[in-house]
Amino acid sequence: MDNKQPLILAFDTSCDDTSVAVLKGRRVLSSIVSSQVDIHAEWGGVVPDIARREHEKNIPMVYDEALKKAKVSIEDIDYIVATYGPGLAIDLEIGLNFAKELAIKYSKPFIPVNHMEGHLLSGLLENSKGTAFTEDVEKAKADKGLEELFPAIALLISGKHTELIYVKKVGDYVKLGQTLDDAVGEAFDKVGRILNFGYPGGPTLTEFAKKGKSGVIEFPIPMKNSNDLNFSYSGLKTAALYKTKELREEGRKDKEWVYDFCRGFMDAILESLVIKLESAIQEYGDVKSIFVGGGVFNSEEILREIGRVVRSYGLNYIYPAKEYRGDNAAMVGLVGYYKAQSGDYIEEKAEIEKVDRVPRLTF
Ligand code: ZN
Repeated sequence: MDNKQPLILAFDTSCDDTSVAVLKGRRVLSSIVSSQVDIHAEWGGVVPDIARREHEKNIPMVYDEALKKAKVSIEDIDYIVATYGPGLAIDLEIGLNFAKELAIKYSKPFIPVNHMEGHLLSGLLENSKGTAFTEDVEKAKADKGLEELFPAIALLISGKHTELIYVKKVGDYVKLGQTLDDAVGEAFDKVGRILNFGYPGGPTLTEFAKKGKSGVIEFPIPMKNSNDLNFSYSGLKTAALYKTKELREEGRKDKEWVYDFCRGFMDAILESLVIKLESAIQEYGDVKSIFVGGGVFNSEEILREIGRVVRSYGLNYIYPAKEYRGDNAAMVGLVGYYKAQSGDYIEEKAEIEKVDRVPRLTF
C-alpha cells in the first residue's frame, strides 16, 4: 500500500443512515452503514426525531467498528471529515459534532464536506486493494490519469435530489439543472405508497416494472419540452394518483394492472432523465465522461439505461459500486481526500468549533 496516502476518517448522518468510513487515499479500508430503514418503515418515511435518537445511539459503535475493520486507531488518522449538508438539520449535527469533537480532542485537521459532492465523486472510490469499480476509471489510471475523465457531467438521483452538474474538474462545479419539486426517489416512494407497497416503495416499484408491458398504461413525460435542464416529478405523481383512482373505480383489481402501471411509470421517469441528460451532453460538447451517483441507481435498469445513452455518445461512464450508491461515509471521505490534497482543511480549534450544519447546502 502506498504509505504516502493519507488516512481519512469520515462521518455521514445526513438522513437516516449512520455511516462511518476509513479511507487510505481513494481506497476504502472500511465503510460501515447502520441502516434505520426498518424503524422508519413503520412510519412510512423518515422521522427526523427518531433518526436523531438512533444516530446518537449508534454512532459510537459504528465509529469503533469502522476503525477496527480498517485495523487502524484514531491516533493513526490524518484527517477527520464529516458531512455538514445538505440533509436533516437535527440529524446532520450528530455526525458533524461527533467528528468535530474527535478532531479537537486528537488535534487532527478537520474537513467539512457537501454530501452531494460525495455522491458525485462516488464512482472514483477504490476497494482496499486499489482497484476502481468501473473499467473506464482503471483505463484512465493506466493511461494519463484521472484528469483525463474531465470535464464531465454528473447526474445525481436520490431520495431528495435530482441534479445535473457540470464538472470542470474535481472541486469545480456548476449546477446545470435540478428538480423544481420532488426528486426521483421521492416520486418512487410516494407512488409506492399509493400502490400500498410500504416504505421505501422504490425497490418494489422497479421490481414490478420488470414484469409489466410498456405502452399499456402511459404517463406524461415530465418537463419534456421545458427547454432547460430542470426536472419535475410532482405532476407525474399526481397523474399516477388519478390513474390508480380511475382504475380502481372501474372495479379492476390492483393485481390486474399494477405491473403495467409500474412499467409505464418507470418508462416516464427514464425518458425524462434521458431527455435531460442528452440535452446536457449536446449543450456541453467538451465533456468526456458522465458521472452518476445516488440511491436511485440501485435500480440496475436505470443504471444500465443511462449507461446505454452515455456509450452512444462515446463517453466514459463512471458509476459507484452498489454499496456506495445509497448514503455512505466512504464517498464523503473521498471528497475529504481531494480537499486535503488541495490544502482545504481546518486546523485551528476555534475554527473547527465554528463549523455549523447547512441543511440546504448546494453546489
Ligand atoms: Zn444522499
